[in-house]
Parts: sequence; structure tokens; C-alpha cells
Amino acid sequence: MSEFEIGTQAKRRCDLLGTGPFSEVEGQLTRRFLTPAHARALDQLAVWMAEAGMSVRRDAAANLIGRYEAATSDAPALLIGSHIDSVRNGGRYDGPLGILLGIDLVEALHRAGRRLPFAVEVVAFGDEEGSRFPASMSCSRALAGTLDPEAVLALRDADGVTLAEAFTAFGLDPARITEAARKRSEVIAFLEAHIEQGPVLEAEDLALGVVTAIAAQKRLIVKITGTAGHAGTTPMNLRKDPGPAAAECMLALERICQAGTDNLVGTVGRMTALPGAFNVIPGAVEFSMDIRAENSATRDAAVEAVTAEIHAIAARRGLAASVTLMQALSESPCDPGLTTLLEAAVGDLGLPARRLPSGAGHDAMVMADLCPTAMLFIRCEGGISHNPAESVTEADCALAVRAMLGFVDKLADQFSRQTSLSSRSERDSAERRDPGATRAAPGSRSAPSGRPG
Ligand SMILES: [Zn+2]
Repeated sequence: MSEFEIGTQAKRRCDLLGTGPFSEVEGQLTRRFLTPAHARALDQLAVWMAEAGMSVRRDAAANLIGRYEAATSDAPALLIGSHIDSVRNGGRYDGPLGILLGIDLVEALHRAGRRLPFAVEVVAFGDEEGSRFPASMSCSRALAGTLDPEAVLALRDADGVTLAEAFTAFGLDPARITEAARKRSEVIAFLEAHIEQGPVLEAEDLALGVVTAIAAQKRLIVKITGTAGHAGTTPMNLRKDPGPAAAECMLALERICQAGTDNLVGTVGRMTALPGAFNVIPGAVEFSMDIRAENSATRDAAVEAVTAEIHAIAARRGLAASVTLMQALSESPCDPGLTTLLEAAVGDLGLPARRLPSGAGHDAMVMADLCPTAMLFIRCEGGISHNPAESVTEADCALAVRAMLGFVDKLADQFSRQTSLSSRSERDSAERRDPGATRAAPGSRSAPSGRPG
């Protein structure tokens, strides 16, 4: 397999997983957490992982993990991966591409007979999108050791099935979900490759981007309450209509975010007028607000400003308003050292290494609680995602694997240098404590675990 074919194989496999038995719905891609389509996708990934030279297991949180051993057994691992679940009627590359590029990377190492000073594990997380249960990233949280099982296992999907019941149906014991947690000493870093899901790389004619940080976000619910009334008989000057007030609030959100810095963005994605009839002035209007920025301070300042505006607008119109925080996620900076390595690997391909933040959330932000993280973005057509029209090119996928291989090489050099430095300093300090009695203490880190293969 030439290097060019490596990336195209990943893309072809994403296309295959976008159809037939790997989707819950005929003619589109819907693959939600713990469904039979999810199980079939994991079975197929397991075959490909094994073919690429990995030993394969499912962990207690429904993550599929393929491990390619280091030059020595029991070495810590570089984790590479992304999510296998999709939104309803989603695209083929959001998530799976990061897994399949990882498999192609390992296959390239395997075919070349190369072993690294660390193991490489490719991970397929089960639940990033939150498209079945009202929680997201529970699989990466379990692996990172930050999952609160009591908060998650009782959640129900739209059919009333609890997450615990879905786990059992999937052949897993929900009581053991926390056993998926990895020890810090087992993991040296996490690398996630993902489609950009935005238009920046395409606009700048770039195949790849290096992610600096994943944006901080807050989700809020705003409710404005007035008085319901008859649409035909209530004169305009006697109404307490929350509808136009909500429209003013949306304009305020737009104005505040347009004037903001640090890639501040604000979105009203859902709006409900109650009771919701043609001929009734609504008694209440409820809408969502999603506010993100590169850092929490900018995001929080915007949330504060828009909340003040909402209360002022409601007061002026004689209405009541409430703003409720539903979810807050801090920004997750990628590791500066790893980001520099990834940048250099992209540069080695003769490409400009464009740095950019991620406005979308990713498993990498959860994995940052466990280990240093790096993220590579791949250009996608029109910046479109969460949509069947999602599209990437084979050439860009090939470049992505080559950049990832370059990154892995640089990380291996660094790892070997650090391991030999730390074993030398251990030897030196042991020499000082007990001159002459230090050579190769069994089980010490001076054992050649860092030797590249
Ligand atoms: Zn994704």
C-alpha cells in the first residue's frame, strides 16, 4: 500500500460505514449510541483493526480499542481516535474519519514492520453526539475517568429506555462502566483528527489545520412570560406579548456577539411559543441560547451582557424573564508542545500549518482531563457537517495520515530522548546514593522501555 492509498482507504471505509447495516435508517446515516447499527460498525472496525496488526477489545463503556504494541510490551500508549456515533441523518466523516485515519496510520507502521517506543491505540468512542440520550461524550468521559455513572445511567432516550438498559442490551454491565477509566501512567497523549466542520480551511485553500483550543461554551434556556390572549380581539396596546420581546432578545444576542472578540458566537437554535396556535397571543416564549468563545472570560462576559439585556427588554415591555444555565464547558486548550510537533509535521509536507480554534466540541476536550491532547482538522466541502452532504477529498485524507505519521515520528524521538534522559538521571542519582550498585535495577524505568524499534 503506497502512502497515497493509505488515506484513501480511510475515506472509502467511512463511505462504506455510511450505508447499509451500519445505519439505523435505510437510505441515510443515523447511527446512535448502543444501537444494533453501532454494534455492527464496531464489529467491522474490529476486523479492520485486526488486519492492521492490532489486538482488539471492547472496554466497559462500549469503546472499541485496537492496540498496536510498542517495541516492548507494557509500554504506555499514544491514543488516536474519535467517535463512531452520528447525529440523525448525518454525514459519513464527522467522527469515523478520525478512527479510520488512525487505523490507516497503524497499518502503515505494521506493513513497514515498525514498532515505536510507545504503543498506539486506536479508539472508537461510542457517544460524542448525544443523539440518543441527553448526554454527550459519556464514553470518552468513562475512559478519562471523569464520568459520574449515577448521573448518566438513569438518563432515558426518546423511547423511555434508560442508558443502563441500553448498556445491558449491548452486552455490557452498566455497573462496571467506570472500569473503562485509564490510568494516567498508561497514556502519553491523545490525538484526534476530525473534519473542520467550518469553512475556514476551504476559504484559505488549505487541506489541514492545527487546532489550538476547543471553545468554551454555555447553553442557556430563556423564558419570557406574558399573557396569552385572543389574536383577533386584543388591541396591540393592551397586549403582553412575549413574542416580539424574544425577537428583540435575539437581536441583542446577535449584536453583542458581532461586536465580540475571541471568536465569540451566539445562536438561538430552538424557539417555542406557548401554547402555540395561529390565533393565540403566546403566554410564554422559550428559546435556547448557545454561546461560545475561545476563552471562558469572553464567553461569560457575553452571557452576562445578554442576560442584562433580556431582563431590560422584558421589564420595558411589562413581562417576566428567566435565564437558566443548562450546561457550561470550559475551553480546552490543546497541549502547546504537541501542537508544535503537529504543526512541524504539517510543515514537513510543504503545507502551511494554519492554527485555528475549534468552535465545535470534541472528545479531545474530555480527554484533556487524562492526558495532553492534539487535534488535526481536515478541510470539508463548504464547511458542511451534521448533514449527508458532508464531503472530504481522498487527497486531503492522504495528507492527514502523512501528517499524523510525521507527528508520531517526532513524538517517538521526543519520548526516547526523555526516557533516556530520565533513566540517565535516575542512574546518576542512584550512583550518588550507592556508587557501583546501580546497573539495571529490575523494574526501574531505566529498563529499555523507551528504545525505538
Ligand atoms: Zn464529531
